[in-house]
Amino acid sequence: MKRKGSSIRRFRLTKIVATLGPASNSPEMIRALFEAGVDVFRFNFSHGSHADHGERLRFVRQLEEEEGRPIAVMADLQGPKLRIGRFADGPIKVGPGHRIRLDLSTEPGTETRVGLPHPEIFAAINAGTDLLVDDGRVRLRVESCSAEHADTVVVSGTKLSDRKGVNVPGVVLPLSPLTPKDREDLAFALDEGVDWVALSFVQRPEDVAEARRLIAGRAALLSKLEKPSAIEHLERIVELSDGIMVARGDLGVEMPAEDVPPIQKRIIREARIEGKPVIVATQMLESMVGAPAPTRAEASDVATAVYDGADAVMLSAETAAGEYPVEAVSMMDRIARRVEHDPLYRTIMDAQHPNPEATAADAITAAAHQVADTIQAAAIVTYTTSGSTTLRAARERPAVPILCLTSSIFTARRLQLAFGVHAVNTSDVSNFSEMVQKATRIAHDDGIAEDGQRLVITAGVPFGTPGNTNILRIAWVEAP
Ligand code: PGA
Ligand code: MN
Repeated sequence: MKRKGSSIRRFRLTKIVATLGPASNSPEMIRALFEAGVDVFRFNFSHGSHADHGERLRFVRQLEEEEGRPIAVMADLQGPKLRIGRFADGPIKVGPGHRIRLDLSTEPGTETRVGLPHPEIFAAINAGTDLLVDDGRVRLRVESCSAEHADTVVVSGTKLSDRKGVNVPGVVLPLSPLTPKDREDLAFALDEGVDWVALSFVQRPEDVAEARRLIAGRAALLSKLEKPSAIEHLERIVELSDGIMVARGDLGVEMPAEDVPPIQKRIIREARIEGKPVIVATQMLESMVGAPAPTRAEASDVATAVYDGADAVMLSAETAAGEYPVEAVSMMDRIARRVEHDPLYRTIMDAQHPNPEATAADAITAAAHQVADTIQAAAIVTYTTSGSTTLRAARERPAVPILCLTSSIFTARRLQLAFGVHAVNTSDVSNFSEMVQKATRIAHDDGIAEDGQRLVITAGVPFGTPGNTNILRIAWVEAP
């Protein structure tokens, strides 16, 4: 990748993940989203064909090449998400008392029936069971059912449209976390070279272990926490994953709404302790799907995720299908930056600081954070191969950017999801003066540090041996 002198530097530590979709498929729109602040592009495999995703990936890689900046791509697998089928003539209006049959047919739906191609649901429900459609916006109560259909009545809700999700709270469905479709999508995504794979509806640590075996190191693995049982196994799932998503869309349907905010805080805390990037997702600026400004509550929600110490905040329909994708990213960018400049934010990040583990890398990293604060350095620089040292630095939630210098483009891309990380793909160094020169030159070129500012550099000596961070060095940035 050729680096331009004027590489984009973000003035924000919290990252932005944006979902691509029909509203954001062109190279121009993807560029506009990147320029507005997107760090990670999410491809939602619940929608779109392999051809669509392949094309999007080519657009992102083209942009990456033009900008000389690594950009992360996340393939989000649908998982055993249950969905109704399509409707023949677009969305249908419903209201309390409206009767609709759900069945196994693949025929397009009408006002009186629609497909629900999941026999396991019909096997597990009874008269009186409630089905929640479209993130709980529509509640259907089963009046009678057989192995092939269910006759339901609308309890609440106003509209049903194509392929909306269905949750059956309180009913355990015997489903594997990787459906046959997920396995095909995963093979495709890995072949195409995505950086992160997100696993939906994780229920048990074994689900993560199974996905890890299939991915075999070809991408980083992110677990989406959206089932009550995943919360029960939180610590183990975080340990086994490379990253975590607080998937509030399904979580808020599967659990009472009032449980979601404390769970969000608990998940973020656990992920930070483990040093795993954590994303807060879903409905963050939902009203911006159709309006150029968010509600006060949405602005507050984004701010809360930042105050909670999330690595990243995410946009879904806002950028995939909304009318104001770029405005939504800009709004998120402004909210996150505003919080990061609040002295109270710094107080919270420091108060929640997890203890270093008893390793040389953690000792050096914690010291680097402290030295950077004391001398008011412009950045912390980490030389890394696998990215693990950089993640330990992100766990510190320092007030300055973490410049991640790595000879692995895969590491550089993946690390863009992590708090505060400005990743650069560059060759390894072999001695101290090279280490200092490279760090100061890149920090200067990328607008991370100005002449007369200092950097705190961590690396491992002997150079080029992965996993041995053991030195800390302060260096001045000088005019080239
Ligand atoms: P989804 O995941 O959009 O793929 O359902 C996010 C969520 O459930 O919040
Ligand atoms: Mn979900």
